[in-house]
Amino acid sequence: MTARTVLRFVAHRIKRHPNSEATASARCLHGECEWEARPSTDVGHVDDQCMEHTGRNKDHATFARRFEDVALVERLEGST
Ligand SMILES: [Zn+2]
Repeated sequence: MTARTVLRFVAHRIKRHPNSEATASARCLHGECEWEARPSTDVGHVDDQCMEHTGRNKDHATFARRFEDVALVERLEGST
């Protein structure tokens, strides 16, 4: 007897997990600087921290911003 793998199309969707919020963060890209903004669900707060960092360190004006959330994949009704 031979084992078989049955592949079927199953429709799914992906969305933000209802119990999560998107979080923004940023880190300075200047040389060896290791400064990072405190992550926040409000990107405006992260941007304010970046501008404050640049205000104190003139040449530190480039940042890597990251947006992260928790995703949830659901099988669509009726899919088998
Ligand atoms: Zn910096």
